[in-house]
Amino acid sequence: MSAIRILPDLLINQIAAGEVVDRPASALKELLENSLDAGAGEISVLLEQGGMKLLRVLDNGSGIAKEDLTLALARHATSKIASLDDLERVVSLGFRGEALASIAAVSKLALASRRAQDKHAWKIESSGGATRFVAPAALSRGTSVEARDLYFNTPARRKFLKSEATEFAHCEEVFKRTVLSRPDVSFSLQHNSRAQWRLPAQDASDRIRAVLGDDFAAASVAIDEYSAGLRLWGMAGLPAYSRGARDTQYFYVNRRFVRDKLLAHAIREAYHDILHHERHPAFVLFLEIDPAVVDVNVHPTKIEVRFRDARAVHQFVYHSLNKALSAPVVDHNAARAAPANPFVARDHSVQSGMNFEAAQPKALYETLFADMARSQASPINNARQDIPALGFALGQLQGTYILAQNDKGLVIVDMHAAHERVVYEKVKNALNAGTPATQPLLIPATFNADTLDVATAEEHSALLRELGFEIAPVGPNALAVRAVPAMLKNADAADLARAVLRDIREIGASSVLNERRNDLLATLACHGAVRAKRILGVEEMNALLREMETTERASQCNHGRPTWFQITMEELDKMFMRGK
Ligand code: ADP
Ligand code: MG
Repeated sequence: MSAIRILPDLLINQIAAGEVVDRPASALKELLENSLDAGAGEISVLLEQGGMKLLRVLDNGSGIAKEDLTLALARHATSKIASLDDLERVVSLGFRGEALASIAAVSKLALASRRAQDKHAWKIESSGGATRFVAPAALSRGTSVEARDLYFNTPARRKFLKSEATEFAHCEEVFKRTVLSRPDVSFSLQHNSRAQWRLPAQDASDRIRAVLGDDFAAASVAIDEYSAGLRLWGMAGLPAYSRGARDTQYFYVNRRFVRDKLLAHAIREAYHDILHHERHPAFVLFLEIDPAVVDVNVHPTKIEVRFRDARAVHQFVYHSLNKALSAPVVDHNAARAAPANPFVARDHSVQSGMNFEAAQPKALYETLFADMARSQASPINNARQDIPALGFALGQLQGTYILAQNDKGLVIVDMHAAHERVVYEKVKNALNAGTPATQPLLIPATFNADTLDVATAEEHSALLRELGFEIAPVGPNALAVRAVPAMLKNADAADLARAVLRDIREIGASSVLNERRNDLLATLACHGAVRAKRILGVEEMNALLREMETTERASQCNHGRPTWFQITMEELDKMFMRGK
């Protein structure tokens, strides 16, 4: 007997389900896309138990003919493309014809539909992929897809489901992504009979405000740029918002939500100059591009895309965003003076708005930066024997810079950036040596968290422990930090926990300790470092200078900015025209 056999259809669909509908949220994504592809103007979602018990999407779209109902549940059956040619210029969200078949294979599914010309609706039911006959049903125009008891027949998959709250959080995120993409469509979402969202058809800026809140709207700029067949529009958050924002990154290519390395890079570059300590900008951006020059069929869930001219797209996104972000200088500073200002520590909020960094003209900064790049060629430890390379502290300027004197003249140190680098190396060494020592907190730091954060803490508690953290849910929207890595014990535990959870979510648990480890280290270091505006004593300042001297790569902070620079006596003399 031959050892190789062709798998039965049901098994094929169950295998595919592992890719296309790995959790309720993925099934929801597929159903919402089908409704949008059907031209619906109104879509309502009903969930029970995080979508695990029931997931229902009802739309008023074009509907499905009675004779197509069976086909709709069959694998590789689609009305959206018929040829390779179609595939190459596909504009619909779906086209692979595997979503309904996959969902049907792992649930108890009921599909009811009625087109405008039909006298009444028809429905088909299926349990674990075995379809039953088509029967008349009651439904006004459109389609209703109802999936119950997801994975009831695939226990291995069911085991991977998390708590109800976790699965709901993922569903809600999918819902947000979808509603942001189509403000012209009205949406509602109900969970366990409670209304969670109700969004009328509205214009894009109202939709963005409704989903992301007034804070985001107030601290963001509108973008709309065209060039050579490309359009980028939407809203980009200013640095003042980025700190409060977690996971507020929505990028769409032809209204399809994507996560793409190339685009992410272009965006990061555009923010590079203005985004200081916070590495995660917030944005909702739509790229419109000729469908023929972008391949969306890279991944079963279509979350990745490939551009024919990747370089041109990168350049366009970078320049458009950069332009929009650098335009509103006045607004930008106004935003900084607002309470959300990330550069003014809360405990010194009474200080004058005069912020050394904000007051610096950019040209001067660049001059300093250029000097720094040159001085980086020489290591710090090149001083005379008696005077340390970075000298001794004279005092602190505006709570931000340490002024010190060495044998060459004046040394200016960006206190936070320098300390951040020192902490970074310490944390790196500690993690390389295994799990860092933990410091239990006498009083756990509790904080309000969104459901996704709670879900992340639950899901990745083992990883968190490995990093030296103990973070546990204490309610549907609250987390408690019970322990932190000992070397970060001076950080604000709640802020630190939030940042770590965000990293795990954005970077992915598998990469956070491997290829993206540096990002995590940077986050930990940023929070472990002294805050700007903290008043330091002379001994503390000298201690930092000594630590810098013995730390590798101390001349540059983790964001690639200089941590210190030197003004020599000759330079000072020149400034004051001494000896001329
Ligand atoms: P795809 O979306 O890739 O075509 P699906 O398995 O998601 O594959 O859906 C199969 C087919 O069922 C679609 O091509 C479409 O013709 C039909 N269909 C699914 N959902 C709807 C809906 N909500 N309204 C109208 N037709 C639908
Ligand atoms: Mg589909």
